[in-house]
Amino acid sequence: MLNDDMYKLGSKRSTIRELFEFGKTRAKEIGKENVFDFSLGNPSIPAPKCVNQSISSLLDTLDDASLHGYTSAQGNQNVRHAVAMHIEKTQHTQMSEDYVYMTCGATSSLCITLRALCEKDDEFIILAPYFPEYKVFIGATGAKCVVVPFNECDFTPNLDALDKAITKNTKAIIVNSPNNPSGAVYSQKTIDDICAIVNKKQTLYSKEIFIISDEPYREIVYDVAVPSILKAYDNAIVCYSYSKSLSLSGERIGYIAVNPRAKDADKLYLAICGASRALGYVCAPSTYQRVIQACADALPDIEEYRKNRDILYSSLKAIGYECVLPSGAFYLMLKSLEDDSEAFSQRAKDFGILVVPADDFGAKGYVRIAYCVNTKMIERSITAFNELFDSYK
Ligand code: PLP
Repeated sequence: MLNDDMYKLGSKRSTIRELFEFGKTRAKEIGKENVFDFSLGNPSIPAPKCVNQSISSLLDTLDDASLHGYTSAQGNQNVRHAVAMHIEKTQHTQMSEDYVYMTCGATSSLCITLRALCEKDDEFIILAPYFPEYKVFIGATGAKCVVVPFNECDFTPNLDALDKAITKNTKAIIVNSPNNPSGAVYSQKTIDDICAIVNKKQTLYSKEIFIISDEPYREIVYDVAVPSILKAYDNAIVCYSYSKSLSLSGERIGYIAVNPRAKDADKLYLAICGASRALGYVCAPSTYQRVIQACADALPDIEEYRKNRDILYSSLKAIGYECVLPSGAFYLMLKSLEDDSEAFSQRAKDFGILVVPADDFGAKGYVRIAYCVNTKMIERSITAFNELFDSYK
């Protein structure tokens, strides 16, 4: 009577959501100030001023039906133009509105792209540690998902394993840097090495192998550069979202950018139009498309995230925890104090600390701390982290 896979997916709440709900209940029992909820990757800084200003100005100036009406399926042309110009300006690579498709955030960018590419027997590669929903999105296409392990010293992909993982059935590799959950930002060398491996395999198998670059954290970096995949690799597709960079996660706005140099780029773009249609997306939110047109070059003020990262990292290291300083996003991976990170996360709850076991992110033995929270909460949490550490002595 029902699709069993969908029923199972719907009945199992994600660990992150479960912790988040637990936090709300626990706050009622022991007081909000004693719960240190690091579970959710919801931005804690307000959207840049230009976002609210452009919404007000749209309400003042666009009082006809068009403000809330349907747009072209791929998005308004001038919106796509603003996005394309932003990419050209910041990544020094050619882009035009004809290769930009406005979406409802990175989730839809990814689902549309996977659907546009996927054929029978295809395999998609993901690099651990990875955003857990990739498995759900790939699963929905019917394709096989292949996981490549990571180097523990810096959370970069194991390139020998990547080389071995690419087969004649590989259609694409999803790259996510700045990374959720590790906060790692891949260097130009790592990106070049990945591209060289994929290029070699394209030649070996005489077929296109795509790199899908999932980049919702592109602008959230601390003194490092994020290399441009569009520049480095021809068969590249960028899946972008304003959820994190402009703190618009609930508004659902992002885009797909196809590299104009990709093989049959025009056909690829049309397949993206088709996949979006088949998945029922219709168009990206009309008002927020216009906001993006006005704010395409806006940058988040990430000083609060940087401050949180610095306090958390130095305090945890001083206590004796093992962790790597993240260069981007707003996540930090902590080595669990016991092999079973689920058990560690459970014990942390006794001290009011909510951290996500990273098994679902492909990183057993770690927990993820999302530090997109109030700085005062981080400061208050340090005593609890100390007590948690002592409980393992
Ligand atoms: N990709 C990564 C790596 C993410 O961390 C997230 C959200 O946390 C998404 C995609 C989904 O983003 P969106 O809210 O834009 O759908």
